[in-house]
Amino acid sequence: MSQVAICPNCGSKSKVNTKNGVITYQAIQDEEAFKKVEQLKKAIEKFKAKAEKLEQELEVLMNKE
Ligand SMILES: [Zn+2]
Repeated sequence: MSQVAICPNCGSKSKVNTKNGVITYQAIQDEEAFKKVEQLKKAIEKFKAKAEKLEQELEVLMNKE
C-alpha cells in the first residue's frame, strides 16, 4: 500500500514507498502538472519564434552598415 505525500525535495505530490527502511518519493504526474508542462512548451515555442525574428532583424540591420 502506498501513501501520498508532498515530496521534500521538489514539493510535488508523490507516492511514498518504503523499501528496506528507505523512503522514496515518486512524483505523481497529475493532470494539472501535464497542463503546466504544455503551457510551458507553448511559451518556449513562442519565445523561440520571437528570438528567431529578432535575430533576422538584427542581421538585416548589420548588413546595412
Ligand atoms: Zn520530488
